[in-house]
Amino acid sequence: MNKLTDHKGINLEGLQNETLVVHADDRMTDERTLAPAIYYSATFRAEDATEFAEMAGTPRHSQYYTRYGNPVHARVQKVLAELEGTETALVTGSGMGAIATTILALVSAGDHVIAQTRHYMSTAKIMDEMLPRFGVEVTVVEQSDASAFAEAIRPNTKLIMLETPANPTMVVTDLAAVAELARPRGIIVVADNTFASPINQRPHDLGVDVVVHSATKYLGGHHDITAGVICTSEELAGRIWDTHISIGSVLSPMDAWLLLRGLRTLPMRIERINSNALALAQFLEEQPQVERVYYPGLASHPQHELAKRQMKGFGGMIAFAIKGGYDATQRFVSALKLSQNAVSLGGVDSLVVHTAAMWAGVMSEEQMQTAGIPANFVRYSVGIEHIDDLKADILQALQLV
Ligand SMILES: *Cc1c(COP(=O)(O)O)cnc(C)c1O
Repeated sequence: MNKLTDHKGINLEGLQNETLVVHADDRMTDERTLAPAIYYSATFRAEDATEFAEMAGTPRHSQYYTRYGNPVHARVQKVLAELEGTETALVTGSGMGAIATTILALVSAGDHVIAQTRHYMSTAKIMDEMLPRFGVEVTVVEQSDASAFAEAIRPNTKLIMLETPANPTMVVTDLAAVAELARPRGIIVVADNTFASPINQRPHDLGVDVVVHSATKYLGGHHDITAGVICTSEELAGRIWDTHISIGSVLSPMDAWLLLRGLRTLPMRIERINSNALALAQFLEEQPQVERVYYPGLASHPQHELAKRQMKGFGGMIAFAIKGGYDATQRFVSALKLSQNAVSLGGVDSLVVHTAAMWAGVMSEEQMQTAGIPANFVRYSVGIEHIDDLKADILQALQLV
């Protein structure tokens, strides 16, 4: 497979996600294996010196050196770009690899960046600590208020970083409104779409330039790999790739293969996770031991209307508060049997975390208050188990609170 060929001439135009995840990458290869082959090779040989020169001079070549690209990367990137509706995609060794590489590729000293008050912790760290070290100014704004972004824009604003829905209260950012502010000013908008997945939300359709994911979560879907992806235009991907090969956040061919395997069932998993999560959120709202439930799919979510506008489904992340404070919440989490007490999210198994316990090691109580993390918060990542079993597990644990 020197050349990636469209061997069956499948026209992807108009195909649904369920079909794309199975067939979009067929176009990339004339391999005879039905399952994708894993190219476990760090380097690739040229036929002669002329071909070598051509390989060396081709950006994003999929068979030159694996840090630059790999045939399995190319296949999984094709599926991811189709799902997000972008021209292309670039896989990385982790979600943070995707986020850090994107930001470092696109901003320079003297630029200004706008970020949200609520970001994934390591993203917040890039904003609060890393960028200022390199002479990039960052303004953090309340993401539920689109006008806060407008007010923060300066003549040197280069990039706006978004993430929606976001921890810990599943706050939603109005992607279309922010993209509309940014477009006429040439500001690049990046959105972390990890919590929603492209099945529920397509930021690029709403005007976002770069969509990033921790593919460790829903895209991989089985809690077995660490991976990331950047979905964007050919032009921006070229610029980001140029930085990517220097940063070196490379996805191993095996993990790229597992990601591709995971993607085959993404639409089915998300369909089940959406329905499980909505049912569970409604069920939790009825329980006397539960103080409050935060889920964009509930009418009680302050941004439910916005969520309905920009999301097709509301995803599998639920936050809720247990009556009785820190100790009661610890008892609840310990009593759960089916739902494993583990960080991460988005896989086939339901995971639960007592948010305050997770942050206690790295944040002071004051910082937790500013970040809006009360002592009695639970974050629940809904899996694909049967809803009746999940409800029963939660019910027995609530009785022990
Ligand atoms: C997990 C996560 C990340 C980081 O991804 P890794 O794959 O762990 O590097 C970034 N953003 C969000 C929203 C996440 O959940």
